[in-house]
Parts: sequence; C-alpha cells; structure tokens
Amino acid sequence: MSERRESGVRERSIEATPAIAALPAIRPFVAPEELARRAGRTDLLRLGANESAFGPPPRALEAMRAELPRTSYYGDPESVALRETLAARHACSPDNITVGAGIDDLLGLVVRAYCAPGDVSVSTLGSYPTYIYHVIGYGARSETVPYAADGSVQLPALAARAHETRARLVYLANPDNPSGAFASRRAVASFVDALPADTLLVLDEAYGDFVDRSELLPDTIDPRIVRMRTFSKAYGLAGARVGYCIAPRETIETFAKIRLQFHVARISQAGALAALDEPDFIANVVAEVARGRSDYEALAARFARTTLPSRTNFVCIDIGSRERAEAMVEALLQRGVFVRKPGAPPLDGHIRVTVGTADDRLRFGEAFAETLLAAQRHARS
Ligand SMILES: *Cc1c(COP(=O)(O)O)cnc(C)c1O
Repeated sequence: MSERRESGVRERSIEATPAIAALPAIRPFVAPEELARRAGRTDLLRLGANESAFGPPPRALEAMRAELPRTSYYGDPESVALRETLAARHACSPDNITVGAGIDDLLGLVVRAYCAPGDVSVSTLGSYPTYIYHVIGYGARSETVPYAADGSVQLPALAARAHETRARLVYLANPDNPSGAFASRRAVASFVDALPADTLLVLDEAYGDFVDRSELLPDTIDPRIVRMRTFSKAYGLAGARVGYCIAPRETIETFAKIRLQFHVARISQAGALAALDEPDFIANVVAEVARGRSDYEALAARFARTTLPSRTNFVCIDIGSRERAEAMVEALLQRGVFVRKPGAPPLDGHIRVTVGTADDRLRFGEAFAETLLAAQRHARS
C-alpha cells in the first residue's frame, strides 16, 4: 500500500481485488538485463534463458524487415497464414491451433479456462516456473511431485497425484526444463492413459524441436491433451514472442473467447511463418546444439563433475550442493556469464547452462574453470 503526502489527495492507493492483493509478489524469472545492472555490466554472455545462440533463420529476418514499415497496422488477430502452415505441418486443421505470444501466454490461457479458483493443478516440483505463476495467479491450487533422484520426471507418481487430488490440469514439459530429461513416446502415451478421465494434460513441448518427431506423440488430436510449441528455442525467435498450441477444436474455441486479439505482432507472425521455410537452418541448429551438449559434458568430466542427460539446448552440471551451485551462479555473473540453476531438490545442486556457439562454449569453459579453482582455493584457505 503506498501513501501519498500531498494534502487533499487520497492517502492510500486503491486496493486490488482481494484475490490479487493476496498474491505473493513472486516473479518466475529475474531477467539477464536486471542481473547485468546488478553486476554493474552492460551485457552478459547469455547462457541462462535457453535462448538460441544461433540467431533467427535468415528468411525470418528478411520477412520481418520487409514487414517493418507495416507496423502501423495491427497483426492478423486470427494469424491465418501461420495457422494454415502449422496445420499442414501437424496434419490437423487450422481450427485445432491457437497462436499466442509464446507458450508463456498460452499457459495462462489454459489455466484460466480450465482451472477455476481452488481447483487443483499437478506438476513436477521445480519444473517450468511460469506455469505455476499462472496457477497461483488464477487462484488455483498447485500440487507437486518431486523429480526422481536421476532428474527424470516421475510420470506414474504424477498420474497417481492427479487421481488423489482430482486434478483439473496436469502439466508435463517434455523434454523437461530445467532437468533436460525426456520421456519416450511410449511412456507419455501410457501416462496419458493413466490420468483421470476428466483431467486435461498440458503437454509443453518447448524443446520438441530438439528430438526426432518419431519420439514425440503422433500428430493426432487427443481430447485429453493441449500440446504447446514455440518459436523461441530452436527457431531463434524468443524476442518475437510466438508460440502455438494444438488441441481439440472445442478447446481452441474456448481460448478464442478469452485470448488477446492483437498481441502477436505483425512482424512476429511474418518472422515465424518464414522461419518454417528454413528446415535446413533449423536442422543445423539442432546438430550444433547436440555438439554443444557433448562439449559441456566433456568440460564437466574434466573437473570430475557429472551432468544430467539432456535432450534440450541446455545441460545441468552437478556442483555438489545448493550452496555451491548458488555461489557458482553468482561467481559466473561476476565474470559476465549469465546461467541459471534449478530451484528445487533434488536438482538444486546443479547449474543449468544453455548451449552457446562454439565461441560461447569456450568462454563459458574458461569462466567455469576459473570459478571452480577460485572456490577450491577459498575452501583450502
Ligand atoms: C522456454 C520455455 C517456455 C517459454 O516459451 P515461450 O514460447 O518463449 O513463451 C515454455 N516452456 C518451457 C518448458 C520452456 O523452457
């Protein structure tokens, strides 16, 4: 509550609704821009947000440049061109697709539409925080199941918890963030079958482009699932904010009642559409990311550190304890390197490092080595 001093003016600011006033002032992420300001730096080596170090595909850049002068006009609120192309790609109808300002936006829609205040959502403790941010923000109740000790997602335990709590929503990121773990097509299919009949699965496939299509569920519309994809990771368009979900037509119609109409910019729609026309560029990114993961695994091994198996564009390195991992994130930041770390046990002794370019990886390797050596000297003295 803020007070104002001028006389004759209200003493207190107007209250938010009780539900919003009661919310904790949490943010899912502190941005690298803010971390840079805190560290007194103008920029950082950005290896903390799983953005693409390989940039947008050239045709996407070209299409966005061409669209720039038309920025005085709103974008198509139905994103028709993009939805038609995506539908052809996923063997569905455009009526099965909602385009949004990234998966983060679509996660808010699904929670708002399907999880009333007090209803239960089930997810993995420490998995993607923006989902939980929406669950809390819309007044729903979050129930969680921890990761297994090896960093994998415990699918049977998630399904069991959904039954116990009569969950409306279950959230699964596959491949997962922050662990990098991946559940096979078969494991996910059995998981879907094990869920309560009236539970909706939010299947976040933000990293789906880093695994082979044959490893993901087939492109069939399943009434129990809302699948989410993004242009932010392999497609290198995180700053353009474009994602989409694939769902039954009725779900898409439900989202159409509440989604914002004009929040996916014209330039972003044009960029995403053109990016779909760059399969070779994307395949190269995916291959380079696989090489980068091996580089990080080799680097960790040189210092007798283990990594979690990852099918994404990042790798978690075991630093030994929560305290050491937190100190490492801070020490790297002081050296101009931005990484993040999983927040919840059993993964909170790891740091999570995004695959950068070959050059970024070398710079990270140097900073990592220096930081470890400094920590060892400190421990000895
Ligand atoms: C990066 C990420 C997102 C965010 O995607 P946007 O489309 O940029 O909003 C969503 N889910 C997971 C698991 C992610 O890692």
